[in-house]
Amino acid sequence: YQAKVDRDRIVTYSSEFDVNTVERLQLLADLRTAIETGELGVQYQPQVDLASRTVVGVEALIRWQHPTRGPVSPDDFIPLAENSGLIAALTFHVLDAALAELARWRAAGHDVRLAVNLSARHLSDLALPRQVTEALLRHDVPAPSLVLEVTETGILSDPARVDAVIASLRALGVAIAVDDYGTGHASLSYLKRLEVDELKIDRSFVSDMGRVSHDYIIVRSTIALARDLGLRVIAEGIEEEETAVSLHALGCCIGQGFHLGRPTSPVAILERLDAERQVALPTPTGPR
Ligand code: C2E
Ligand code: MG
Ligand code: MG
Ligand code: MG
Repeated sequence: YQAKVDRDRIVTYSSEFDVNTVERLQLLADLRTAIETGELGVQYQPQVDLASRTVVGVEALIRWQHPTRGPVSPDDFIPLAENSGLIAALTFHVLDAALAELARWRAAGHDVRLAVNLSARHLSDLALPRQVTEALLRHDVPAPSLVLEVTETGILSDPARVDAVIASLRALGVAIAVDDYGTGHASLSYLKRLEVDELKIDRSFVSDMGRVSHDYIIVRSTIALARDLGLRVIAEGIEEEETAVSLHALGCCIGQGFHLGRPTSPVAILERLDAERQVALPTPTGPR
């Protein structure tokens, strides 16, 4: 184990970690204890049906409230965790916390889907399907309520194993989404090879699609491609009403972004789900 940690460090630290190495090592040391100290939390960002504008799912996003630095971005500490063997503990912390919240929302009568981010490395871990099954059973959540989001880099490493892991997750009924779609270097080649359920169009194409015609064309083609392949498509990074309207017109049914809902607490999600159900009912005393 130690050898693996050291080897990974040599590989990654040589390029990115020349600057602030001491600081990063300190951050990593802090991260090791952060789970037990309760500094790691999870927020939930709504995934919204672009026609009815109601919440149909949520994405779990890890948050770290560092005692002295304040909030640290996952973009800064997830790579550290990935290169140090901590990522498995973080992933299962998030999966467990998020399934517990989902179980509460379900108990309140809300049948939403939960998306959890998986790190690239997990996809080649043959133990993952069993661990996911155990987590689902622990919280009494049906597999089709769970979506695991993976990025293209994850999918492309160790193809044979990754295919096997994805196949067993899907056999359980868990859905697989390709996150940040379009930013990798081989998007089309893995779509040819892999069985996935959902594409999430990266926000770098979506946010400015109303102003940048290239972005608009890329988004339009990606939605058409996803639909022709029978995949669910979610647009990320919707920051304006105009964007939500054009995406819907292009046939994208689900959106995510600050305009539709920022990442928030589980209580705030429950309140929104309750409020939307009130609106959907003919009268406050209507059927539940
Ligand atoms: P992601 O999975 O693509 O998550 C979406 C990110 O975009 C989130 O950033 C979210 O807050 C942000 N976002 C959502 N809507 C908008 C918008 O309209 N505009 C802009 N500018 N940003 C928007 P966050 O929470 O900082 O997470 C960053 C990345 O860190 C995630 O990207 C994901 O790759 C990773 N991450 C987060 N939580 C976890 C986790 O539990 N496990 C793993 N392995 N990775 C995670
Ligand atoms: Mg994601
Ligand atoms: Mg994304
Ligand atoms: Mg991302």
